[in-house]
Amino acid sequence: MLMASSYPEVLSHFEDKHVVTIATGATCAYLGDERNLREFLVADEAVRWLRRIGHTALFLLIDDSMDPLNFRQLRVAVNKDEALIEKYKDCCGKPISRLTDPWGCHESYAAHFEEELMDRLHRLDCHPTLITTAKLYERGVYKPYVRTALERYDEILEFLRTRFQGYEPEKLFWVLCPQCGYIHETDIEYIKDGNVCVYCHACEHSQLIPIDEIEGKLNWKLDCAARWALFKIDAEPFNKSYLEPQSGSFVVAQALSQEFFGGHPVLPLLYGVVKMEKQFGGQLLSSLPSTVFRSLLVERPASDAKISKELMITTASRYVVMPGVSFLDFIKQLLPMWLVTPETLTPDQRELVAHGISFSRYFLDTEVRLQLPTPEQFEGEQIAVLNLIHVLLNRVLPLRQRTDLTWEQFQEKVKAIIDSLGSHKGPALHRLRLIVGQEQGLPAARFLYMLPMNYLQLLESILKLYLQCAQHTARNNQDESEDDDSNGARHLRVA
Ligand SMILES: [Zn+2]
Ligand SMILES: [Zn+2]
Repeated sequence: MLMASSYPEVLSHFEDKHVVTIATGATCAYLGDERNLREFLVADEAVRWLRRIGHTALFLLIDDSMDPLNFRQLRVAVNKDEALIEKYKDCCGKPISRLTDPWGCHESYAAHFEEELMDRLHRLDCHPTLITTAKLYERGVYKPYVRTALERYDEILEFLRTRFQGYEPEKLFWVLCPQCGYIHETDIEYIKDGNVCVYCHACEHSQLIPIDEIEGKLNWKLDCAARWALFKIDAEPFNKSYLEPQSGSFVVAQALSQEFFGGHPVLPLLYGVVKMEKQFGGQLLSSLPSTVFRSLLVERPASDAKISKELMITTASRYVVMPGVSFLDFIKQLLPMWLVTPETLTPDQRELVAHGISFSRYFLDTEVRLQLPTPEQFEGEQIAVLNLIHVLLNRVLPLRQRTDLTWEQFQEKVKAIIDSLGSHKGPALHRLRLIVGQEQGLPAARFLYMLPMNYLQLLESILKLYLQCAQHTARNNQDESEDDDSNGARHLRVA
């Protein structure tokens, strides 16, 4: 079967097609965890590849908002809120687009979760166009397809039986009961003279509905077939469970589309399944910067991804969040110091800090703490070495204040300053690394460039005070020893 399992394959497939439409599907009955995001991100990445070389690429997210709510979805959606479960449990079986928003902020239950999903995707820099199928049905957009499905009901069933042996759909069309509003327990008894006889098990009513007035939704495979034809969709991501070549959902939908709806071939984009322990749910989004999260899911789209602590740490060490600094290095080296001066951080930096704190907690099992410079960090060091650090800071600070310096120019100047420090250069840099928590971290010029300005100023002030005290003590000691000398006693004192 023709499919694409990499972005270059998508490009070569659509080489001669200027406008390419890629669709994805969802049922916005709850928000769910990170696993279901891969489909959208892989599609979005394919769209980016196409746009980069000049194609016009359209990206749709189609919410099956005529799908009935089920109890499992409800529990997840309301986060096991007993009162809401009680209030909505009798709604299970009705289309999510026909239910009120449990929190009252949107026009329907479906609209609430559509917006939550779109918000989540926007934060990942993924911007599909939302299509909600309930509106399409309401506007009658699906009418020709529904009519075909109902008028050629037996023919379609026969086609499926012959072409896909062993596959028998439960129903081709789910009728929405006009009496009680449930969609999950209606059966089509017979179709005759443009009317459909429907029996609803929920309200135990039997009724005759004209085909043109019938409400409901097509069986999922027929719906796929219809939307492919309707929106001229060229590609859609599927995981391998849909792509079984004999009678997988994709093959069935493709055959139905071409046989009954005048459809064209659709290219499936194979994406691997994301497996994850339940406990990680929500933690990936909170712990990884959006660019890193995205890379984790869109690189090697066709391989399955098993999320583990090890994979998360490897991922954090592989992706940079600023030039030359991986996310893991950021967490270990810069984050504690950024926390010293939160008011100076830009919104992007604050977001990075929030992700870093969360990553550290969930995946490194440590809480990030502030690392303010303290005089204790200078104890036991030679005054000459500390003096040299002070000199270094005093010369670096004005450079940091200059807005005209590029990183390369700054680096060059700092290197020159360091080279001029003389024989105590080594011990001074070593002590400075200890103080700022960069024992095996970034090169000195780099951390002097990246540490918050206020932090460096604070360090300089504390060091200055410490050196003044030390000088003062030394002078006093000297005075005392001179006094002692005058008394004729000789004590050896160490300053
Ligand atoms: Zn809402
Ligand atoms: Zn009913």
